[in-house]
Amino acid sequence: MPAFFGCIADDFTGATDLAGLLARSGVEVSLRIGVPKAPPSATAPFEVIALKCRTAPVAAAVADCRAALDWLRRAGAQRFFWKYCSTFDSTPTGNIGPVAEALMADLGCAQTIYCPAFPENGRTIFMGNLFVGRQPLAESPMKDHPLTPMRDSNLMRLLQPQVTGTVGLVDRLIVAQGADALQAELALLAQAGTAHVVVDAVANADLAVIAEACRDMTLMTGGSAVAMPLPAIYAAMGLLAATGSGVTVPALPQTAVILSGSCSAMTNAQVAHYIATGAPSLRLDPLDLAQSGIAPALEWLAAQNLEHAPLIYATAEPDQVRRAQDHLGRDRAGDIVEHALAACAIAARNAGARRIVVAGGETSGAVTTALGVDRLHIGREISPGVPWTYCDSDGNPMALALKSGNFGGTSFFSDAMGAA
Ligand code: ADP
Repeated sequence: MPAFFGCIADDFTGATDLAGLLARSGVEVSLRIGVPKAPPSATAPFEVIALKCRTAPVAAAVADCRAALDWLRRAGAQRFFWKYCSTFDSTPTGNIGPVAEALMADLGCAQTIYCPAFPENGRTIFMGNLFVGRQPLAESPMKDHPLTPMRDSNLMRLLQPQVTGTVGLVDRLIVAQGADALQAELALLAQAGTAHVVVDAVANADLAVIAEACRDMTLMTGGSAVAMPLPAIYAAMGLLAATGSGVTVPALPQTAVILSGSCSAMTNAQVAHYIATGAPSLRLDPLDLAQSGIAPALEWLAAQNLEHAPLIYATAEPDQVRRAQDHLGRDRAGDIVEHALAACAIAARNAGARRIVVAGGETSGAVTTALGVDRLHIGREISPGVPWTYCDSDGNPMALALKSGNFGGTSFFSDAMGAA
C-alpha cells in the first residue's frame, strides 16, 4: 500500500512517540531507522523515518532530512510532518528551522506551522511561550539538559535565529475561535509573507482545531501530539484507504534489560523508583568508563538474571553531569556513555534478553543503531508517547521501548515490564 503520511523525526524516541500516537488510530504505522537504502517497498499508510540529527551540524541534518523526504515522496506520501521534541530541543545554531526551510523549499510550501505542544505530557504553548507543567521552559529542568540546554521559553525568539524567513504567531485567542478562524489568520499571515508560524495550544481540543485548520498543508512541523488528530481527519476526507489494525504482537520471553542514558529530571526519578523496588542495578560513571572501559559493566551484566530486568544507568543529577562534562567535554562524555550502553545492549541480546527498555533519545539512537535494527512495528503504548515496538536484531525477534527522557511516570520501568 502506498504511503500517505510521511514523517521525519529528529531522534529515535521522538519517532516512536509520534508512531505510537498515530497507531492509536488503528492505521498501520511503520517506523524506519534512518533513511532506508532500498527503494520503498511494503510501505504502510503512515511511514515515520527516525533520524539522529537533533544535535548534528546543520548541513548534515538538512541533508539527512532531505534524503528522508525524497524516500517518503517515492513511497507515495502526499502529506509530510517534521517532528521535533515537545520541549523544542535545539541550540541557537540548531536544526529545527533550517530543516523546515529546506523541506519547504523541496515541497514548494510557502508556509508551515510550529506546534511542539503535548498537553497530555504537560507541554503547552501560550502566547508563543512553551511551558513544561507549570514552569516556563527556561525555568524547567530543561535548562540543564546535557546537550540542548533550553534557556529561553519563547518559541519565536528561539526559532527566528534558525530561519531566514519571517516568524509569526497565532495565539490561543484565535485558536479558541476554531479551525476557520485559525485558517483565516494563517492566510493573512501568508499574505504578509510570514513563512514560519508558531501556534499556541494548551489542550488536546486546541490540537484538534490546529490539525483541522492545517489539513491541506503539505508540511506541518511540531511535536507528536498535533499529528494525533490527523489520521481521523485524513480518513474523513477520504484520503486513507481502510486498513486493518496494526501489528501482530510476537510472543517473547520476559528476559529484559533496562538501559538509561537520559539525565532528565523524570528519568532520575524513574531510576530512583526502580532501584527502590529492589531491582538489580548498576550505575555507570563516564569518568570511570573513560579510565577503565566497559569490561566491568559487561561482567556485571553477564552475572545478572535477565528475568529480573536489571537496570544499567548513567542517569545523573545536573551537578554530576557537569562534573563529567568539565573533565571530558560535553560530546565526549555523551559519546562514552552512549557507546557503553550500546555495548550493554548487544551483550544483553547475545545473553538472551528479548526486551530492552531504553531511556533517552540520543541513547536510544545509539542502542538501536548498535543492534542493527532498521525497522520497527509499533505496538501498544506503555504511557503516552512510549509504545512497545517490535523488531528483528541479528535474526532475533525483540521488543524495544524507547523512552524520551521526560516521558512516562515515576514507575515507568516497572510499568513497561508489566505491559510486556
Ligand atoms: P534525553 O531524552 O533525556 O534528552 P538523551 O539520551 O537524548 O536523553 O541525552 C542524554 C545525553 O547525556 C546522552 O548523550 C548521554 O550519553 C549523556 N549522559 C548520560 N549520562 C551522563 C553523565 N552521567 N554525564 C554526562 N553525560 C551523560
